[in-house]
Amino acid sequence: MTCRVCGGPVEPVAWALNLKIVSRSATEFFCLQCLAEHFKTTVASLEEAAARYRAAGCVLFPPT
Ligand SMILES: [Zn+2]
Repeated sequence: MTCRVCGGPVEPVAWALNLKIVSRSATEFFCLQCLAEHFKTTVASLEEAAARYRAAGCVLFPPT
């Protein structure tokens, strides 16, 4: 799977974040970096959000 913006690889955690905060029915995905830019945030805060979702038991997020 490649990023719709930069064509780079979409990591599993980025994929899960796309489904969670972009759309459950997303067919195009952003990599972590482009997701951060799209939402005017930082990769670090996206990773924090992912950690929160994972801790909450969200099945989209693979265990570390
Ligand atoms: Zn990208």
